[in-house]
Amino acid sequence: MPVMERVQRTPVSAALAALERSQWWPPEQLQALQLRKLRHLTTHSFQQSPLYGQLWSEAGVQPEELRSLDDVQRLPVVSKAILRAAFPDQVLARDADRAELVPYTSSGSTGEPFRFTMTRAEKGLRWAVILRCWAWAGLRQGVRYVNLMGEHAHGSLQGGARQSWEQRLTQMLHIPAFAVHDQRLDEVIDQIVRYRPRLLRSYPATAHRLATALAERGIDLPLRAVLTTGEVLHPFQRAAIEAQFRCQVYDAYGGDGMDVAFQCGHSTGYHINAEAVLVEVLDDAGQPLPAGQEGQIVLTNLNNLAMPFVRYAIGDLGSLAAKPCPCGRGLPLLDHVAGRSSDQLTLPSGRGLLMWFFTTLFRQTPGIDAFQVRQTAPDRIVISLVPGRDFGHLPAEGSGPAAGAQRLGAWVGAEPALAWLRGRIEEEVRGEAVVELHLVERIPSGPAGKRRFFIAETQEVELFPKSSTSSAGPA
Ligand SMILES: [Zn+2]
Repeated sequence: MPVMERVQRTPVSAALAALERSQWWPPEQLQALQLRKLRHLTTHSFQQSPLYGQLWSEAGVQPEELRSLDDVQRLPVVSKAILRAAFPDQVLARDADRAELVPYTSSGSTGEPFRFTMTRAEKGLRWAVILRCWAWAGLRQGVRYVNLMGEHAHGSLQGGARQSWEQRLTQMLHIPAFAVHDQRLDEVIDQIVRYRPRLLRSYPATAHRLATALAERGIDLPLRAVLTTGEVLHPFQRAAIEAQFRCQVYDAYGGDGMDVAFQCGHSTGYHINAEAVLVEVLDDAGQPLPAGQEGQIVLTNLNNLAMPFVRYAIGDLGSLAAKPCPCGRGLPLLDHVAGRSSDQLTLPSGRGLLMWFFTTLFRQTPGIDAFQVRQTAPDRIVISLVPGRDFGHLPAEGSGPAAGAQRLGAWVGAEPALAWLRGRIEEEVRGEAVVELHLVERIPSGPAGKRRFFIAETQEVELFPKSSTSSAGPA
């Protein structure tokens, strides 16, 4: 670790030691820490970031007025569009040392890149959070692991020399995710098997593809854990990955420089990294929702002072959990993340069709290895399916939507199975759109090797349009 810290010029150990302790604090103590950090962040952002200075002045809020965590609701929500328009000069803190900033680009759900930044020291705080959570899955220093992520995904350093340093120090074999989805698959499998890893880090779709390919080739590769991140992990993927690698999947949720929540292995929820991120779940009117109810996820990055994210609507849907985790950590739980809120088709009548409908249907249908749903025009839905070994069976009578509940029903053949699926989808679409179904060999990758299940090509959903109107000013 000290060597790694010097290579990356980011201090990590002290922050990690503090996080190892604070994860066991009672909720009240964690909330007190959050409030202290929130007050520091907002006072600083108000003074140093032109965007927040202007937004909050317009809203008539002074950061000194924030006396409880609930008071954060008095601040306006900012969207990705607002931050994109304000980047860099209007959103970055005036006192941020430009020489210390680390550039990041994330690929948004609409494919348009989103740029953000933080200092090296703040990046070190991120690493501390990530390393704490990796330890929950058994990933500690010296454990050999395979990193199947996009080229520039978090966890890999940019540039050859640095990357090989990191690989040697962390016992990591890095393979770009998209190699698993193209003709290099067999080469990749060879490389991984020879490396003899104990852990795998990957996008869910990539881990699922690898698991399916190993099963098809009869290759046994038991692991200690699989860590997934970057996309929504669907239950059918979890079931297949856990069965093939004979270990648990630890899923993580985050985005745009925030490592929001990780699974600890003791419950299906996700522990919120409360020392680093304040998480709110809001309804369509911007009001907080009680635990268990799904709404917009709004994030405040408590560590990034260089480019403040205060009440940032990241564009995901999710809900908070009502019960604490049996592991005893005081960190609150996110019950689930249902994916991009824009992962919804809007039919010509204005009726929405949630991604969940498709994921549930394709999970219950035997032999679907991967899928993609695209709305290419308001009245046209094009669905690509990658058929697996069991495709052509109908689901067994009474197959539930629960994870792993899939059972094979009658064999009817591929064409009748497609017709059956079309019927189910058309029932839901009620004549508002033409439904096309295609069997394909693989789903093409998006930016950075990420798989996108669901693409609405005809619209971009605007979040909280009321606050978005302010974006005209600082742009
Ligand atoms: Zn736990």
